[in-house]
Amino acid sequence: MQFRSINPYNSQVLETYEGLSPQQVNYKIDKAYQGYLQWKNTTYLERSDLMQSAAVELLKNKKDYSETITLEMGKPIREAIAEIEKCAAVCAYYAVNAADFLKDAPLDTPHGEGYIHFNPLGVILAVMPWNFPFWQVFRFAAPTIMAGNTCLLKHASNVPKCALDIERVFLNAGFPEDIFNTLLIGSGDVKEVIAHEHVAAVTLTGSELAGKSVASIAGDNIKKSVLELGGSDPFIVLRDADVQAAAKVAVKARMLNAGQSCIAAKRFILEKEIAEDFTSQFIKQLRSLKTGNPMDTNTDFGTLARPDLAIEIFDQVKHSIEMGAEIIFGRLPDKIDTAYFPLMILGNLKPDMPAYEEEIFGPVALFFVVENADEAIKIANQSQFGLGGSLWTTDENKAKLIANQIESGAVYINQMMFSDPSVPFGGIKKSGYGRELSYPGIREFTNQKTIWIK
Ligand code: NAP
Repeated sequence: MQFRSINPYNSQVLETYEGLSPQQVNYKIDKAYQGYLQWKNTTYLERSDLMQSAAVELLKNKKDYSETITLEMGKPIREAIAEIEKCAAVCAYYAVNAADFLKDAPLDTPHGEGYIHFNPLGVILAVMPWNFPFWQVFRFAAPTIMAGNTCLLKHASNVPKCALDIERVFLNAGFPEDIFNTLLIGSGDVKEVIAHEHVAAVTLTGSELAGKSVASIAGDNIKKSVLELGGSDPFIVLRDADVQAAAKVAVKARMLNAGQSCIAAKRFILEKEIAEDFTSQFIKQLRSLKTGNPMDTNTDFGTLARPDLAIEIFDQVKHSIEMGAEIIFGRLPDKIDTAYFPLMILGNLKPDMPAYEEEIFGPVALFFVVENADEAIKIANQSQFGLGGSLWTTDENKAKLIANQIESGAVYINQMMFSDPSVPFGGIKKSGYGRELSYPGIREFTNQKTIWIK
């Protein structure tokens, strides 16, 4: 299988790579396992020094790495630079905190002494998406390696250059070469890797379909899995909210990375008293976004990562309109033949429409007007997904009560949903299971072993 790195802004082929043969894959798995047998015996201090070097390497070569991201998947260069900086931050965070997060945890037992000891699991496979091609990998790899595991990466097929660059970060930082390895393989080859006797567990960030497949293969092999899947996060604005602040943040929350974020605000649920004001401020902000070449530092909005992704959104929007959805802002083109998709707002959304039921992974905001907070909660929970959410109100007590009733892995109050190394991240329902980041993230790929002394 061949992998092509293609610039979605101008369709230029940047590079072509040969995929690995089954023998080469097996060789890399065996090496990763041999690497693990050594690595698990290193101290936190030794791992921490190397992880700090990875942070330094990322920052030192931030220009190169961010250009790779932008050229390969079309993200505005300003956002790509911020992504590299965030990767450096997660490396530094776990370099500092891993030992503390994984120190023996005493158990409150009436008989003798008991505690939980955290052992690494072994070789962990990561199946990753293209939308944050560095961040998704580093937020998994930094804690997983600090815990004493080794990593294999099967990255999305459209970002092979990012995948190889990430391998280079770890090598340049001084890690032994078997600690982090990229496997240039297709999704059809993942099954054999998960089943391999020397692979202990798998994590997948991606779509529901891919999650289903990977989780069932892991289940067949009785191996641990973590799934970080799609979302259709609500952004609830109540009548007592600071509407101006909410609208300004709302546009960023929806349009960052051309709308291709699992935790992008996708459904804007507005109490009727502020709906008109919010809508006009949102549109004003939308109009101020600069569209253009993603490599230009002034560009806010470039293209999607691939033409087929734009076509998929086109179909979702077109079918929803045929079923009665209304365009509040923007225009649906007659057809799509590039990776560009225009900014849009849709209203009058009803169950069964694709825009209501599915995740729209691009620059389309869905607007709902509701009578009161109870109806807002009901609509928010009427989703197969449950990743994040954002809630706007000046009444903090009310906010906490409502947040408790939202079916999701997180609710952020008076701010957009975003990921941060110090805050646990993950979903429920069809958004997946397991947690990344903070202390739960580093414990996912450990054996939480009980020791009890009589
Ligand atoms: P995708 O098509 O599911 O691909 C993700 C990864 O899974 C890629 O490496 C892909 O490989 C692989 N894959 C696809 N089908 C597979 C299968 N049947 N078996 C094994 N591997 C398979 O998703 P995407 O389009 O790259 O990413 C967008 C999705 O990811 C959205 O739904 C988004 O919400 C979700 N996401 C979730 C989070 C989160 O933290 N919850 C974060 C970011 C993105 P190929 O490229 O070779 O097909």
